[in-house]
Amino acid sequence: MIVLSEILELKQVISGWKQNGDTIGFCPTMGTLHAGHMDLVENSKKQCSKTIVSIFINPTQFNDPKDFAAYPKNTDADLKLCEESGVDLVFLPSVDVMYPKSSTPIQMSIPILQTTLCGRTRPGHFEGVLQIVSKLFHLTEPHFAFFGLKDYQQFRVISAMVAELNFPIQVIGVPTKRESDGLAMSSRNLRLTPKDRETATLIPRMFQLAKKTLLGGERDLKVWKEILTDFLLTGMNVKIDYLEVVDPMTLQPVNKLTGNVLLATAVFVGEVRLIDNEILTCPSK
Ligand code: AMP
Repeated sequence: MIVLSEILELKQVISGWKQNGDTIGFCPTMGTLHAGHMDLVENSKKQCSKTIVSIFINPTQFNDPKDFAAYPKNTDADLKLCEESGVDLVFLPSVDVMYPKSSTPIQMSIPILQTTLCGRTRPGHFEGVLQIVSKLFHLTEPHFAFFGLKDYQQFRVISAMVAELNFPIQVIGVPTKRESDGLAMSSRNLRLTPKDRETATLIPRMFQLAKKTLLGGERDLKVWKEILTDFLLTGMNVKIDYLEVVDPMTLQPVNKLTGNVLLATAVFVGEVRLIDNEILTCPSK
């Protein structure tokens, strides 16, 4: 496995692969890798002859400096996991490599997809995501890029950027990998106290309740959201950042429970902000 931190070396290796006719798959991450990240790698390995993982905690996508400072780092374990999983190249740049002091900040956004969910409650977050992902796409020039559907809004925003700016890249969404009790795997789970970790299971259980009440015939969106909100708030130390029901394509709020809807939530359990979502099909009467 090749590990690189410099842009020039990265581009040289990739250009050699391209000359050999390799198909390149790219999985951008912020490290502290877990089985969810490795699902991206596995999907890439099935489809591509070379798989690149980037590990970079991107400062420009953190709207809260405390959250950035507390983000876990685990480089040695990450490299071991990548090696064991058959990753071909890990790109591990420093902040100075990605954002040299001489650089002129650029800002991108896709306003229509950023008015709801994390776009609403984390101002500047998707601007930072679009900035770093577009840079990494230019550096790695992959044929395929793999993103987790756990970060559904990120997947939609990146897909839209690729379509609008004609990146010659196919963006693949990979289903959310969960712990045995249903909690979505996340690098942030490590920061939960044992008690808060238990409380966090309210999130997957809330999605179960959402499906059960839909099947039970609940069609009043306001009442449904109240049931789900009350359920989450039975937890100690729980603060809801958002609980929204939106159209899965446009991410705009729906006003009726019909067809496919995206139920998405961000919840603070103690200090830790966790997100999850599911596309639900509302049964016809
Ligand atoms: P992160 O390191 O949190 O920025 O995540 C890097 C990539 O891994 C993103 O595309 C995430 O959506 C994806 N990812 C993170 N957690 C999971 C999970 N539990 N299941 C599937 N993909 C995930």
